[in-house]
Amino acid sequence: HAELYARRQAVLPSWLSAYYAEPIELDRGEGRHVYDSQGNRYLDFFGGILTTMTAHALPEVTKAVTEQAGKILHTSTVYLSRPMVELAEQIAAVSGIPDARVFFTASGTEANDAALLLATGVRRSNQVLAMRNSYHGRSFSAVSITGNSGWSTTSLSPFQVSYVHGGNRFRGPFREFTDAEYINACVEDLRDVLDQGDKNAAALIAEPIQGVGGFSVPPDGLYGAFKEVLDEHGILWIADEVQTGWGRTGENFWGWQAHGATPDIVTFAKGIGNGMSIGGVIARAEIMNTLRANSLSTFGGSPITMAAGLANLRYALDNNLQANALEVGGWLKQELSSATALLPVVGDVRGKGLMLGVELVRPGTLDPNPAAATATLEAARAGGLLIGKGGLHNNVLRLAPPLSLTRAEAEEGLRVLRHALTVAGEENP
Ligand code: PMP
Repeated sequence: HAELYARRQAVLPSWLSAYYAEPIELDRGEGRHVYDSQGNRYLDFFGGILTTMTAHALPEVTKAVTEQAGKILHTSTVYLSRPMVELAEQIAAVSGIPDARVFFTASGTEANDAALLLATGVRRSNQVLAMRNSYHGRSFSAVSITGNSGWSTTSLSPFQVSYVHGGNRFRGPFREFTDAEYINACVEDLRDVLDQGDKNAAALIAEPIQGVGGFSVPPDGLYGAFKEVLDEHGILWIADEVQTGWGRTGENFWGWQAHGATPDIVTFAKGIGNGMSIGGVIARAEIMNTLRANSLSTFGGSPITMAAGLANLRYALDNNLQANALEVGGWLKQELSSATALLPVVGDVRGKGLMLGVELVRPGTLDPNPAAATATLEAARAGGLLIGKGGLHNNVLRLAPPLSLTRAEAEEGLRVLRHALTVAGEENP
Protein backbone atom coordinates (compact mmCIF):
# COMPACT_ATOMS: atom_id res chain seq x y z
CA HIS A 1 0.00 0.00 0.00
CA ALA A 2 2.73 2.46 1.02
CA GLU A 3 4.62 2.01 -2.22
CA LEU A 4 1.49 2.54 -4.33
CA TYR A 5 0.53 5.57 -2.26
CA ALA A 6 3.96 7.14 -2.83
CA ARG A 7 3.60 6.54 -6.56
CA ARG A 8 0.14 8.11 -6.50
CA GLN A 9 1.43 11.19 -4.68
CA ALA A 10 4.21 11.57 -7.24
CA VAL A 11 1.91 11.64 -10.22
CA LEU A 12 -1.66 12.50 -9.19
CA PRO A 13 -2.87 15.84 -7.75
CA SER A 14 -2.03 16.62 -4.14
CA TRP A 15 -5.68 17.37 -3.35
CA LEU A 16 -6.88 13.79 -3.76
CA SER A 17 -7.60 12.70 -0.22
CA ALA A 18 -6.52 9.51 1.49
CA TYR A 19 -9.22 8.58 3.94
CA TYR A 20 -7.01 6.59 6.24
CA ALA A 21 -3.58 7.00 7.81
CA GLU A 22 -2.63 3.90 5.82
CA PRO A 23 -4.52 4.01 2.53
CA ILE A 24 -6.59 1.01 1.46
CA GLU A 25 -6.18 -0.55 -1.98
CA LEU A 26 -9.40 -2.31 -2.87
CA ASP A 27 -8.89 -5.48 -4.80
CA ARG A 28 -12.28 -7.15 -5.17
CA GLY A 29 -15.81 -7.13 -3.86
CA GLU A 30 -18.58 -9.60 -3.23
CA GLY A 31 -22.08 -8.78 -2.04
CA ARG A 32 -21.73 -6.25 0.75
CA HIS A 33 -18.05 -7.01 1.36
CA VAL A 34 -14.80 -5.81 -0.20
CA TYR A 35 -11.26 -7.18 0.08
CA ASP A 36 -8.05 -5.19 0.01
CA SER A 37 -4.88 -6.21 -1.80
CA GLN A 38 -3.54 -7.83 1.38
CA GLY A 39 -6.58 -10.06 1.66
CA ASN A 40 -8.31 -8.19 4.49
CA ARG A 41 -12.10 -8.39 4.32
CA TYR A 42 -14.33 -5.43 5.12
CA LEU A 43 -18.06 -4.98 5.43
CA ASP A 44 -18.78 -2.03 3.15
CA PHE A 45 -21.00 0.63 4.77
CA PHE A 46 -19.93 3.39 2.39
CA GLY A 47 -19.59 2.12 -1.17
CA GLY A 48 -23.35 1.88 -1.56
CA ILE A 49 -23.66 5.57 -2.05
CA LEU A 50 -20.44 6.02 -3.97
CA THR A 51 -21.04 3.43 -6.63
CA THR A 52 -22.43 0.12 -5.54
CA MET A 53 -26.17 0.51 -5.31
CA THR A 54 -27.19 -3.14 -5.19
CA ALA A 55 -24.18 -5.38 -4.40
CA HIS A 56 -20.52 -5.82 -5.26
CA ALA A 57 -19.84 -8.08 -8.24
CA LEU A 58 -23.55 -8.62 -8.80
CA PRO A 59 -23.60 -11.55 -11.28
CA GLU A 60 -26.45 -9.98 -13.30
CA VAL A 61 -24.44 -6.79 -13.86
CA THR A 62 -21.20 -8.65 -14.58
CA LYS A 63 -22.98 -10.77 -17.20
CA ALA A 64 -24.62 -7.77 -18.87
CA VAL A 65 -21.34 -5.80 -18.97
CA THR A 66 -19.32 -8.76 -20.26
CA GLU A 67 -21.82 -9.53 -22.98
CA GLN A 68 -21.99 -5.91 -24.07
CA ALA A 69 -18.19 -5.59 -24.07
CA GLY A 70 -18.01 -8.52 -26.44
CA LYS A 71 -20.57 -6.98 -28.78
CA ILE A 72 -20.10 -3.24 -29.29
CA LEU A 73 -18.64 -0.42 -27.20
CA HIS A 74 -19.15 2.37 -29.71
CA THR A 75 -20.69 5.32 -27.89
CA SER A 76 -21.76 7.89 -30.45
CA THR A 77 -25.38 9.02 -30.38
CA VAL A 78 -25.34 9.48 -34.15
CA TYR A 79 -26.32 5.80 -34.21
CA LEU A 80 -29.24 4.19 -32.48
CA SER A 81 -28.45 2.32 -29.28
CA ARG A 82 -30.96 -0.12 -27.87
CA PRO A 83 -29.59 -0.21 -24.28
CA MET A 84 -29.75 3.60 -24.12
CA VAL A 85 -33.36 3.77 -25.29
CA GLU A 86 -34.37 0.94 -22.96
CA LEU A 87 -32.77 2.43 -19.85
CA ALA A 88 -34.26 5.85 -20.66
CA GLU A 89 -37.70 4.22 -20.95
CA GLN A 90 -37.29 2.44 -17.62
CA ILE A 91 -36.01 5.50 -15.81
CA ALA A 92 -38.83 7.62 -17.26
CA ALA A 93 -41.31 5.01 -16.07
CA VAL A 94 -40.10 5.19 -12.45
CA SER A 95 -39.23 8.90 -12.50
CA GLY A 96 -42.52 10.32 -11.24
CA ILE A 97 -41.96 13.17 -13.69
CA PRO A 98 -44.79 13.76 -16.18
CA ASP A 99 -43.89 13.54 -19.89
CA ALA A 100 -40.33 12.68 -18.79
CA ARG A 101 -37.32 12.91 -21.08
CA VAL A 102 -33.97 11.47 -19.98
CA PHE A 103 -30.53 12.72 -21.02
CA PHE A 104 -27.50 10.62 -20.09
CA THR A 105 -24.14 11.97 -18.97
CA ALA A 106 -21.05 10.26 -17.56
CA SER A 107 -21.14 11.77 -14.04
CA GLY A 108 -23.22 13.59 -11.46
CA THR A 109 -21.26 16.78 -12.02
CA GLU A 110 -22.05 16.71 -15.70
CA ALA A 111 -25.71 15.95 -14.93
CA ASN A 112 -25.96 19.04 -12.74
CA ASP A 113 -24.19 21.11 -15.41
CA ALA A 114 -26.77 19.95 -17.92
CA ALA A 115 -29.62 20.79 -15.52
CA LEU A 116 -28.22 24.29 -14.99
CA LEU A 117 -27.76 24.75 -18.72
CA LEU A 118 -31.44 23.90 -19.21
CA ALA A 119 -32.77 26.00 -16.32
CA THR A 120 -30.72 29.12 -17.03
CA GLY A 121 -31.66 28.88 -20.70
CA VAL A 122 -35.38 28.44 -20.05
CA ARG A 123 -35.40 31.33 -17.62
CA ARG A 124 -32.85 33.54 -19.43
CA SER A 125 -31.20 34.14 -16.07
CA ASN A 126 -27.87 33.21 -14.54
CA GLN A 127 -29.12 33.70 -11.00
CA VAL A 128 -29.26 30.43 -9.09
CA LEU A 129 -30.46 29.59 -5.61
CA ALA A 130 -28.62 26.83 -3.79
CA MET A 131 -28.59 25.47 -0.26
CA ARG A 132 -26.06 26.22 2.42
CA ASN A 133 -23.84 23.20 3.13
CA SER A 134 -24.63 21.67 -0.29
CA TYR A 135 -22.42 19.70 -2.71
CA HIS A 136 -23.18 19.31 -6.41
CA GLY A 137 -19.93 18.32 -8.13
CA ARG A 138 -16.48 19.43 -9.12
CA SER A 139 -16.78 21.39 -12.40
CA PHE A 140 -16.69 25.20 -12.51
CA SER A 141 -20.47 25.53 -12.53
CA ALA A 142 -21.12 22.74 -10.00
CA VAL A 143 -18.55 24.09 -7.57
CA SER A 144 -20.03 27.55 -7.83
CA ILE A 145 -23.37 26.31 -6.48
CA THR A 146 -21.74 24.19 -3.79
CA GLY A 147 -22.29 25.77 -0.38
CA ASN A 148 -19.94 23.50 1.57
CA SER A 149 -16.66 25.42 1.70
CA GLY A 150 -14.62 22.24 2.09
CA TRP A 151 -15.59 21.29 -1.47
CA SER A 152 -15.86 24.70 -3.07
CA THR A 153 -12.48 24.90 -4.77
CA THR A 154 -12.86 28.41 -6.21
CA SER A 155 -14.69 31.57 -5.21
CA LEU A 156 -15.19 32.54 -8.86
CA SER A 157 -18.53 31.74 -10.45
CA PRO A 158 -20.38 31.74 -13.77
CA PHE A 159 -23.61 32.36 -11.82
CA GLN A 160 -24.96 34.84 -9.33
CA VAL A 161 -25.66 32.49 -6.46
CA SER A 162 -27.67 33.03 -3.29
CA TYR A 163 -27.64 30.43 -0.55
CA VAL A 164 -30.83 29.50 1.24
CA HIS A 165 -31.15 28.01 4.71
CA GLY A 166 -32.66 24.59 5.27
CA GLY A 167 -30.16 21.95 4.24
CA ASN A 168 -28.58 21.40 7.64
CA ARG A 169 -30.84 21.40 10.64
CA PHE A 170 -28.37 20.30 13.32
CA ARG A 171 -26.66 23.67 13.42
CA GLY A 172 -28.04 27.11 12.76
CA PRO A 173 -30.56 29.58 14.08
CA PHE A 174 -33.63 27.37 13.71
CA ARG A 175 -32.24 24.31 15.48
CA GLU A 176 -34.75 24.19 18.31
CA PHE A 177 -37.80 24.67 16.10
CA THR A 178 -40.54 22.10 15.50
CA ASP A 179 -40.85 20.79 11.94
CA ALA A 180 -43.61 23.28 11.11
CA GLU A 181 -41.72 26.22 12.67
CA TYR A 182 -38.56 25.16 10.87
CA ILE A 183 -40.30 25.03 7.50
CA ASN A 184 -41.91 28.44 8.10
CA ALA A 185 -38.58 29.98 9.09
CA CYS A 186 -36.85 28.56 6.01
CA VAL A 187 -39.65 29.74 3.71
CA GLU A 188 -39.32 33.22 5.23
CA ASP A 189 -35.58 33.06 4.59
CA LEU A 190 -36.25 32.08 0.95
CA ARG A 191 -38.71 34.98 0.56
CA ASP A 192 -36.13 37.32 2.05
CA VAL A 193 -33.47 36.10 -0.40
CA LEU A 194 -35.90 36.65 -3.28
CA ASP A 195 -36.74 40.13 -1.99
CA GLN A 196 -33.02 40.94 -2.12
CA GLY A 197 -33.30 40.79 -5.90
CA ASP A 198 -33.28 37.20 -7.12
CA LYS A 199 -36.94 36.98 -8.20
CA ASN A 200 -35.82 36.24 -11.74
CA ALA A 201 -33.66 33.35 -10.58
CA ALA A 202 -33.41 30.38 -12.92
CA ALA A 203 -33.66 27.62 -10.36
CA LEU A 204 -33.28 26.39 -6.83
CA ILE A 205 -31.02 23.34 -6.76
CA ALA A 206 -31.07 21.11 -3.69
CA GLU A 207 -30.22 17.62 -2.48
CA PRO A 208 -33.32 16.21 -0.74
CA ILE A 209 -30.91 14.88 1.91
CA GLN A 210 -27.46 16.46 1.82
CA GLY A 211 -24.83 13.83 1.11
CA VAL A 212 -21.33 15.25 1.39
CA GLY A 213 -22.87 17.78 3.81
CA GLY A 214 -23.34 15.01 6.36
CA PHE A 215 -26.65 13.28 5.59
CA SER A 216 -28.60 16.26 6.91
CA VAL A 217 -32.32 15.58 6.70
CA PRO A 218 -34.75 18.49 6.46
CA PRO A 219 -38.31 18.05 7.68
CA ASP A 220 -40.61 16.33 5.18
CA GLY A 221 -42.48 18.95 3.17
CA LEU A 222 -39.75 21.62 3.22
CA TYR A 223 -39.13 21.56 -0.51
CA GLY A 224 -42.86 21.44 -1.22
CA ALA A 225 -43.23 24.64 0.79
CA PHE A 226 -40.29 26.14 -1.13
CA LYS A 227 -41.88 25.07 -4.42
CA GLU A 228 -45.03 27.10 -3.71
CA VAL A 229 -42.88 30.21 -3.37
CA LEU A 230 -40.77 29.35 -6.42
CA ASP A 231 -43.92 28.83 -8.50
CA GLU A 232 -45.03 32.39 -7.75
CA HIS A 233 -42.01 33.53 -9.76
CA GLY A 234 -41.65 30.71 -12.30
CA ILE A 235 -38.36 29.59 -10.72
CA LEU A 236 -37.54 25.94 -11.44
CA TRP A 237 -36.72 23.33 -8.78
CA ILE A 238 -33.81 21.00 -9.52
CA ALA A 239 -33.64 17.96 -7.22
CA ASP A 240 -30.12 16.50 -7.09
CA GLU A 241 -30.86 12.81 -6.46
CA VAL A 242 -27.27 11.66 -6.98
CA GLN A 243 -27.20 10.17 -3.46
CA THR A 244 -30.88 9.88 -2.55
CA GLY A 245 -32.37 8.15 -5.60
CA TRP A 246 -33.36 4.55 -6.45
CA GLY A 247 -34.97 3.68 -3.10
CA ARG A 248 -32.05 4.48 -0.84
CA THR A 249 -34.23 6.45 1.59
CA GLY A 250 -36.50 3.42 2.01
CA GLU A 251 -39.80 5.23 2.36
CA ASN A 252 -39.65 6.60 -1.20
CA PHE A 253 -38.00 5.79 -4.51
CA TRP A 254 -36.77 9.39 -4.80
CA GLY A 255 -35.78 11.74 -2.00
CA TRP A 256 -38.00 14.50 -3.38
CA GLN A 257 -41.09 12.38 -2.82
CA ALA A 258 -41.02 13.20 0.90
CA HIS A 259 -41.83 16.80 0.09
CA GLY A 260 -45.30 16.82 -1.44
CA ALA A 261 -44.34 18.50 -4.71
CA THR A 262 -42.72 17.45 -7.97
CA PRO A 263 -39.40 18.90 -9.15
CA ASP A 264 -39.02 20.40 -12.61
CA ILE A 265 -35.65 18.74 -13.17
CA VAL A 266 -34.04 15.73 -11.48
CA THR A 267 -30.39 14.72 -11.70
CA PHE A 268 -28.96 11.29 -10.94
CA ALA A 269 -25.63 9.40 -11.05
CA LYS A 270 -23.47 7.20 -8.82
CA GLY A 271 -25.31 4.02 -7.81
CA ILE A 272 -27.44 3.38 -10.88
CA GLY A 273 -24.43 2.04 -12.80
CA ASN A 274 -23.19 -0.09 -9.87
CA GLY A 275 -19.69 1.18 -10.62
CA MET A 276 -20.11 2.03 -14.32
CA SER A 277 -20.20 5.76 -15.00
CA ILE A 278 -23.79 6.81 -15.53
CA GLY A 279 -25.22 10.23 -14.80
CA GLY A 280 -28.27 11.92 -16.17
CA VAL A 281 -31.04 14.48 -16.16
CA ILE A 282 -34.79 13.92 -16.14
CA ALA A 283 -37.13 16.75 -17.10
CA ARG A 284 -40.50 17.35 -18.70
CA ALA A 285 -40.27 17.50 -22.49
CA GLU A 286 -41.15 21.21 -22.50
CA ILE A 287 -37.97 21.88 -20.48
CA MET A 288 -35.68 19.18 -21.87
CA ASN A 289 -36.29 20.07 -25.49
CA THR A 290 -35.37 23.77 -25.20
CA LEU A 291 -31.65 23.72 -26.01
CA ARG A 292 -30.87 25.82 -29.09
CA ALA A 293 -28.19 23.64 -30.65
CA ASN A 294 -26.73 20.13 -30.59
CA SER A 295 -25.57 18.96 -27.20
CA LEU A 296 -24.19 15.51 -26.53
CA SER A 297 -22.02 13.72 -24.05
CA THR A 298 -19.70 11.31 -25.84
CA PHE A 299 -19.60 8.81 -23.00
CA GLY A 300 -23.07 9.59 -21.67
CA GLY A 301 -25.34 6.66 -22.51
CA SER A 302 -22.54 4.38 -23.74
CA PRO A 303 -23.81 0.84 -24.40
CA ILE A 304 -21.70 -0.80 -21.71
CA THR A 305 -22.82 1.56 -18.96
CA MET A 306 -26.44 1.33 -20.10
CA ALA A 307 -26.25 -2.48 -20.03
CA ALA A 308 -24.99 -2.27 -16.45
CA GLY A 309 -27.70 0.22 -15.51
CA LEU A 310 -30.45 -1.93 -16.99
CA ALA A 311 -29.33 -5.06 -15.14
CA ASN A 312 -28.79 -3.13 -11.91
CA LEU A 313 -32.13 -1.30 -11.94
CA ARG A 314 -33.94 -4.53 -12.85
CA TYR A 315 -32.30 -6.29 -9.89
CA ALA A 316 -33.19 -3.46 -7.50
CA LEU A 317 -36.83 -3.44 -8.63
CA ASP A 318 -37.29 -7.22 -8.84
CA ASN A 319 -35.85 -7.70 -5.36
CA ASN A 320 -37.62 -4.67 -3.90
CA LEU A 321 -34.42 -3.25 -2.45
CA GLN A 322 -36.30 -0.07 -1.50
CA ALA A 323 -38.35 -2.13 0.98
CA ASN A 324 -35.12 -3.74 2.22
CA ALA A 325 -33.61 -0.27 2.76
CA LEU A 326 -36.69 0.71 4.75
CA GLU A 327 -36.64 -2.40 6.90
CA VAL A 328 -32.93 -3.00 7.49
CA GLY A 329 -32.13 0.74 7.55
CA GLY A 330 -34.98 1.43 9.95
CA TRP A 331 -33.78 -1.31 12.26
CA LEU A 332 -30.17 -0.10 12.07
CA LYS A 333 -31.11 3.50 12.83
CA GLN A 334 -33.15 2.52 15.85
CA GLU A 335 -30.46 0.20 17.23
CA LEU A 336 -27.76 2.78 16.54
CA SER A 337 -29.73 5.43 18.37
CA SER A 338 -30.19 3.30 21.47
CA ALA A 339 -26.67 1.85 21.34
CA THR A 340 -25.15 5.33 21.29
CA ALA A 341 -27.62 7.15 23.54
CA LEU A 342 -25.14 7.02 26.42
CA LEU A 343 -22.06 7.87 24.34
CA PRO A 344 -21.44 11.60 24.88
CA VAL A 345 -19.46 11.85 21.63
CA VAL A 346 -22.61 11.15 19.59
CA GLY A 347 -24.54 14.37 19.06
CA ASP A 348 -27.06 13.09 16.53
CA VAL A 349 -28.17 9.93 14.75
CA ARG A 350 -30.20 10.73 11.65
CA GLY A 351 -31.13 9.70 8.16
CA LYS A 352 -33.61 7.60 6.25
CA GLY A 353 -33.42 4.07 4.92
CA LEU A 354 -29.84 3.04 4.23
CA MET A 355 -28.52 6.60 4.37
CA LEU A 356 -27.65 7.15 8.03
CA GLY A 357 -25.50 9.85 9.60
CA VAL A 358 -23.88 10.04 13.04
CA GLU A 359 -22.70 13.52 14.02
CA LEU A 360 -19.86 13.59 16.55
CA VAL A 361 -19.47 16.41 19.06
CA ARG A 362 -17.39 17.36 22.04
CA PRO A 363 -19.26 15.89 25.00
CA GLY A 364 -21.96 18.15 26.37
CA THR A 365 -21.69 20.67 23.52
CA LEU A 366 -22.57 21.05 19.85
CA ASP A 367 -18.92 21.69 18.99
CA PRO A 368 -17.83 19.49 16.07
CA ASN A 369 -15.44 16.64 16.92
CA PRO A 370 -13.61 15.78 13.67
CA ALA A 371 -10.80 14.02 15.58
CA ALA A 372 -13.31 11.53 16.98
CA ALA A 373 -14.72 10.98 13.48
CA THR A 374 -11.27 10.21 12.07
CA ALA A 375 -10.54 7.90 15.01
CA THR A 376 -13.87 6.12 14.53
CA LEU A 377 -13.06 5.51 10.86
CA GLU A 378 -9.70 3.99 11.81
CA ALA A 379 -11.15 1.85 14.61
CA ALA A 380 -13.96 0.64 12.36
CA ARG A 381 -11.44 -0.27 9.68
CA ALA A 382 -9.45 -2.25 12.23
CA GLY A 383 -12.69 -4.08 13.08
CA GLY A 384 -13.38 -4.83 9.40
CA LEU A 385 -15.91 -2.11 8.60
CA LEU A 386 -15.64 0.71 6.04
CA ILE A 387 -17.68 3.84 6.71
CA GLY A 388 -17.68 7.37 5.28
CA LYS A 389 -17.06 10.79 6.70
CA GLY A 390 -18.58 14.15 5.82
CA GLY A 391 -20.21 17.34 6.99
CA LEU A 392 -18.92 20.89 6.86
CA HIS A 393 -16.67 20.15 9.85
CA ASN A 394 -15.72 16.60 8.83
CA ASN A 395 -17.35 15.29 11.98
CA VAL A 396 -20.22 13.24 10.57
CA LEU A 397 -20.01 9.49 9.96
CA ARG A 398 -21.86 8.42 6.86
CA LEU A 399 -23.34 4.94 6.60
CA ALA A 400 -24.55 3.93 3.15
CA PRO A 401 -24.17 0.23 2.41
CA PRO A 402 -25.37 -1.45 -0.78
CA LEU A 403 -29.18 -1.66 -0.72
CA SER A 404 -29.12 -5.44 -0.41
CA LEU A 405 -27.66 -5.30 3.11
CA THR A 406 -28.98 -8.15 5.24
CA ARG A 407 -30.10 -7.88 8.83
CA ALA A 408 -27.19 -10.08 9.94
CA GLU A 409 -24.72 -7.78 8.19
CA ALA A 410 -26.40 -4.75 9.77
CA GLU A 411 -25.89 -6.40 13.17
CA GLU A 412 -22.24 -7.09 12.36
CA GLY A 413 -21.68 -3.47 11.30
CA LEU A 414 -23.46 -2.13 14.35
CA ARG A 415 -21.29 -4.21 16.67
CA VAL A 416 -18.06 -2.91 15.11
CA LEU A 417 -19.31 0.66 14.94
CA ARG A 418 -20.45 0.77 18.55
CA HIS A 419 -17.06 -0.43 19.70
CA ALA A 420 -15.26 2.03 17.39
CA LEU A 421 -17.37 4.94 18.66
CA THR A 422 -16.76 3.99 22.28
CA VAL A 423 -12.98 3.85 21.84
CA ALA A 424 -12.78 6.94 19.62
CA GLY A 425 -15.02 8.93 21.95
CA GLU A 426 -12.97 8.07 25.02
CA GLU A 427 -9.72 9.01 23.29
CA ASN A 428 -11.06 12.25 21.75
CA PRO A 429 -13.16 14.13 24.32
N1 PMP B 1 -24.30 15.67 -6.51
C1 PMP B 1 -24.21 15.03 -5.33
C2 PMP B 1 -25.34 15.15 -4.35
C3 PMP B 1 -23.09 14.25 -5.04
O1 PMP B 1 -22.99 13.64 -3.87
C4 PMP B 1 -22.06 14.15 -6.00
C5 PMP B 1 -20.82 13.29 -5.75
N2 PMP B 1 -20.38 13.21 -4.45
C6 PMP B 1 -22.20 14.82 -7.20
C7 PMP B 1 -23.34 15.57 -7.43
C8 PMP B 1 -21.13 14.75 -8.25
O2 PMP B 1 -21.14 13.52 -8.86
P1 PMP B 1 -19.82 13.01 -9.65
O3 PMP B 1 -18.76 12.82 -8.64
O4 PMP B 1 -20.30 11.76 -10.33
O5 PMP B 1 -19.48 14.06 -10.64
